Amino acid sequence: MKIHKNDQVLIISGKDKGRKGKVIEALPKQGRLVIEGINLRKKHMRPKKSGEKGQIVEMPVPLNVSDVKVICSKCGKAVRTVYKLKGKKKYRICKKCKQEI
Ligand SMILES: [Zn+2]
Repeated sequence: MKIHKNDQVLIISGKDKGRKGKVIEALPKQGRLVIEGINLRKKHMRPKKSGEKGQIVEMPVPLNVSDVKVICSKCGKAVRTVYKLKGKKKYRICKKCKQEI
């Protein structure tokens, strides 16, 4: 996947379009990303003991990787990236400023 954990991303579709957030979990097998504070859904938590009230917590639901773009740490723009090989190491290059992200 071209987007990794701790990347800053811009959401480009869905209800959070235009918002920015940090990737807190990457799920490469599903092609999905969990982004901090984005795509929150309310979840009802059942009370643990009888007599306690259930709680509603907001949890980020994973977004499809195609719904976000990486924000380049060098030029600050939402960009596409390309991979380049230097020896055996892979680098991500910003398509706009050509710098390594
Ligand atoms: Zn850049």
